[in-house]
Amino acid sequence: MKPAQFDYAVPTTVEEAARLLAESNGDGKIIAGGQSLMPMINFRLVKPSILIDVNRIAGLNRIELVGKRVRIGATVRHHQTASDPLIAKHLPVVHDAMQHVAHVTVRNRGTFCGSVAHADPAAEMPMVTRFLDGTIIALSIRGERRIPAADFFVGSLVNSLEPDEMVLAVEIDVMPDEAGWGFEEFAKRHGDFALAAFAATLRMDNGRARDVRIGMMGVGEVPLRLPEVEEILEETQLTQGVLQAVAEKLNDILTPNTDIHASADYRRHLSGVLAKRALRSAWVRAGGRNE
Ligand code: FAD
Repeated sequence: MKPAQFDYAVPTTVEEAARLLAESNGDGKIIAGGQSLMPMINFRLVKPSILIDVNRIAGLNRIELVGKRVRIGATVRHHQTASDPLIAKHLPVVHDAMQHVAHVTVRNRGTFCGSVAHADPAAEMPMVTRFLDGTIIALSIRGERRIPAADFFVGSLVNSLEPDEMVLAVEIDVMPDEAGWGFEEFAKRHGDFALAAFAATLRMDNGRARDVRIGMMGVGEVPLRLPEVEEILEETQLTQGVLQAVAEKLNDILTPNTDIHASADYRRHLSGVLAKRALRSAWVRAGGRNE
């Protein structure tokens, strides 16, 4: 299909981008990598009056350490995140998750912030941003606004940006050096959107798990952090019994959809399998024994 007619602007400063967005009265769309937006425009699922292309704005393509946070700018491509040394050192679970995102051609254009803004519940970057409690830095003509990830993802493909706000960057606290992590997903083919994914980070204190964080995607309308599961694991040793309790808890609390790719029952079962694998990796990387 062909898109409906739209204007196209290529601002060179963030101020200009924010002004153009404000002037579009909610009809304009930011375009970053275009990997999700262009298919939607071609199918006429969205009909923006203007596309505001942020790719020529200098400085947005950086991954930086800002104090104890990693800041990922609006035009950082997936391939950059996948190979960036700061990400590998300070956010290794993000590094691992990124290896599952799409295929090389998509990763050469698609952006971290574009994926977060797109808010697909089966996308890896929204999931890691949510479960690591990242912050979305929004910009409009009124200035910057910091949105906790817990408040950002409000539905499938729906975020809490105002119509005149763009994502300037995403910031995520660095993981402690001693933290272990695990990321597991199942997709029918590598690079396809996953049926489900499970991520965990934890550290070890006196042989017990502490500061456990659990995230999941593909099993709800938004990416999830799961405090109910974290509670089970906090201050325990990762025995078979604990892993089984986690799988049973997931089975109780998750309400995934049935669709053409998998049934809800299958996704619940898959969640338990992925949880066991990811938690074992996190435990061993944190210094625990592999039993
Ligand atoms: P765009 O397509 O440019 O924009 C997407 C949406 O976000 C639009 O609504 C746009 O207006 C908005 N947006 C973009 N940037 C901003 C901003 N700075 N501020 C405000 N709004 C903004 N993703 C995965 O996570 N996992 C996968 O396995 C996966 N597989 C894929 C396979 C294929 C074949 C394709 C085509 C895509 C796949 N994707 C996958 C999606 C890919 O990661 C996209 O690149 C990503 O979802 C969107 O990033 P983008 O930069 O291309 O955004």
